[in-house]
Amino acid sequence: MLPAYISHPDCSKHEMGALHPECPDRIAAIRDHLLIKGLLEFMQPHDAPLATEEQLGRAHAIHHVHEVAALIPESGYAQVDPDTWMNPHSYRAALRSAGAAVLATDLVVRGEAPVAFCNVRPPGHHAEHDAAGGFCFFNNVAVGIRHALDVHGLERVALVDFDVHHGNGSEDILCGDARVLMCSTFETNLYPFCGDEPRGPNMVNIGLAARSGSDAFREAVDWGWIPALDAFRPQMIFISAGFDAHREDDMGNLGLVEADYEWVTRRIMEVANRHAGGRVVSCLEGGYVLSPLARSVAAHVKVLIGAD
Ligand SMILES: [Zn+2]
Repeated sequence: MLPAYISHPDCSKHEMGALHPECPDRIAAIRDHLLIKGLLEFMQPHDAPLATEEQLGRAHAIHHVHEVAALIPESGYAQVDPDTWMNPHSYRAALRSAGAAVLATDLVVRGEAPVAFCNVRPPGHHAEHDAAGGFCFFNNVAVGIRHALDVHGLERVALVDFDVHHGNGSEDILCGDARVLMCSTFETNLYPFCGDEPRGPNMVNIGLAARSGSDAFREAVDWGWIPALDAFRPQMIFISAGFDAHREDDMGNLGLVEADYEWVTRRIMEVANRHAGGRVVSCLEGGYVLSPLARSVAAHVKVLIGAD
């Protein structure tokens, strides 16, 4: 039984202009590096399905789904927020990204894959219950989490988010849902400029100052996330896997390196093995400079699939 690798060619057709950092090449850079590192050989490839309205509706207001669909331009770009644009292919790409999280959940909960990594874009963790933004249209991990809870009947699911930006969309959707524990580290005073005050008792938000580095990140995980996760005893863990806290990524200033992503993935897998039968679904979020992105994803996936 091999770990699942889920992606789709549609994810590379969405683009927001030639100079936009959230670019189609991210998908290919990651895939190529996983291939070169020999990691894809140990994974079962799947095409991401299109998420259905019913699946999206578990995390989003239906009017939000319809509003995003209504924005699809026939040609050129439609602006969604100051940083977020749609081209004619963006809606299908967004449905594939959310659909990947749903398929990953099905495979892992049914025992058809021990873990899954979704190499998809657009990312999702800034998409709120009824709002797109921050390069995100639908909240992929939240759609997967609600699928695990509402369709598969799981009772406790954790979300961990190590993107340099706070997952405000995930917090908006999941705060107050006692079936979910969300643990997040993020750089303070950075987009989306929130997270310092958790919006619910099921939120463990740890803001880190710019340039605080690897030690501060690891302390936050060891002293903030792990005790909360152990007390919660999740039956499954989702990862909002953003790699823009890397030292070579100019989107943030936390100064992490590949070894930190390898380390945090090992910490997450230890929790998953203690409580969740090792069941983990990881979905790509940020990470914008292609070389450190690809290297960091490989470090993450290597531990995720147990090839370390
Ligand atoms: Zn980010």
